Amino acid sequence: MSFAPSEGLRPRWFRRFGVGLNAWYTLVLTTGLVVTYLMVVLLARYAVERADEQILLAKLEEYRSRLDAAPLSDPTRELPVSLLSVEDEAFLLQVFDESGTRLFVHLPDAALAAVSGVRAAPSSGEPHAWTRIRGGRDGRLWTLVTTEITGGRRLQLGMSSAHSDELVRRLRETLLIGFGPLLILGLLGGAYLTRRAQRPIQDLFRVMRAIEVSGDLRARAEQRATGDELDELIALFNRLMSKQERLVTAMRESLDNVAHDLRTPLTRLRGSAETALAGEAGPDTLRDALADCLEEADRVGGMLETLMDISEARSGAVVLAKSRFALDTIAREAVDLYEYVAEDRGIEVTCALEPGVEVVADRMRLFRAVANLLDNALKYTPSGRGVRVLVRSAGEVAEIEVADEGPGIEAEDEARIWERLYRADKSRSEVGLGLGLSFVKAIVEAHGGAVGVVSEPGEGARFIVKVPAAPAGS
Ligand code: ADP
Repeated sequence: MSFAPSEGLRPRWFRRFGVGLNAWYTLVLTTGLVVTYLMVVLLARYAVERADEQILLAKLEEYRSRLDAAPLSDPTRELPVSLLSVEDEAFLLQVFDESGTRLFVHLPDAALAAVSGVRAAPSSGEPHAWTRIRGGRDGRLWTLVTTEITGGRRLQLGMSSAHSDELVRRLRETLLIGFGPLLILGLLGGAYLTRRAQRPIQDLFRVMRAIEVSGDLRARAEQRATGDELDELIALFNRLMSKQERLVTAMRESLDNVAHDLRTPLTRLRGSAETALAGEAGPDTLRDALADCLEEADRVGGMLETLMDISEARSGAVVLAKSRFALDTIAREAVDLYEYVAEDRGIEVTCALEPGVEVVADRMRLFRAVANLLDNALKYTPSGRGVRVLVRSAGEVAEIEVADEGPGIEAEDEARIWERLYRADKSRSEVGLGLGLSFVKAIVEAHGGAVGVVSEPGEGARFIVKVPAAPAGS
């Protein structure tokens, strides 16, 4: 015998699956954070730029009203710095006359001189002309707005991006400080969740390997009662294993039982043959011995068939040939089948068969179950007494009852009569294998039904079979 080399309880694909899951998660999380960071920064920059423009416009209007009020005779004299009060280092102010000559200039930064000649004029219809230039000591971005004031002069106001740069820089820092721990926390959480998600699969894998190695079908994977798909998979695996275990156990049991049960008839068969061969037997004795052998062989055959039927039904491996039919039809057929037996034994069989009590069931097998019950009733009821067969519906359940006026069943036997090969002491005088009731029980239960007995010893027994009624109309 050879075994596949063990690869350990955690195979390579499994580890790769976990790593892959984690890598994907890391990629998605990091990309998400980077995209969020970029969007927030871009939005913030856009917002502060729009705010800067509003400030520029407000200031521009303020200066325009001052200059409009100033006399035009000598523009240079009329524009002292104090009038315009441009104190802020972030602002640039220039006034040009209509020929483009600079009448006034305020440059907060000498390096701005290089770009201070910009004199954009608002295009016709537009009140303002906007220009953006990079310049000055630190090469900041300047936003310039130019407008026309009285006397054809042009007023230009500029504002550096110093304030907004600072604001955006702080926002960036805050985001980075916040996102760093968030990323680490997310990655750790992701790794933990991946491990947790993998655990049930690992458990399942371990159990499968254990079953593969030991062949012990009793092993089950632990369910976590979360109700998710993995839990359903584990439940399904466990159910399949239970079915498999029942099947194998039933096969083992029936093999044991068949071996055990066949021993007696085979010994008898052998005995008959040996006796016939031993002496100087005449043709009649030999014929009798052969007839005995034939009878025993039939008995063995019948026994094997019933044993196999019971095992099949009990292991859940039976394939029911279901059809829709009314219960009274099989009850009537069973009564007809046993008509002569009843007559022969002097037993009156009466029927109360409610018509139209439909079931979806294996007609042949259910018929055999009813016939078995009737066979028992006729077998154990003394001559001159009666047997009743009833069919009725009780809501969603269809019932067949076989009631006799025989000896009934002792309380201590009530649970055991359903066991295979069990025969109550009183019944030893009757012919039987002790297989009938276990066959009835196995078949009825395979249909999702139940069979029970109500009995008063000495008064008779009522065997009641309940199976689900067919759904109306379908
Ligand atoms: P068998 O009838 O071949 O012995 P069964 O499995 O049909 O096997 O029945 C098991 C036992 O249950 C019988 O041996 C008998 O003791 C008891 N039993 C079954 N049916 C009846 C009945 N109608 N009345 C009294 N006892 C019964």
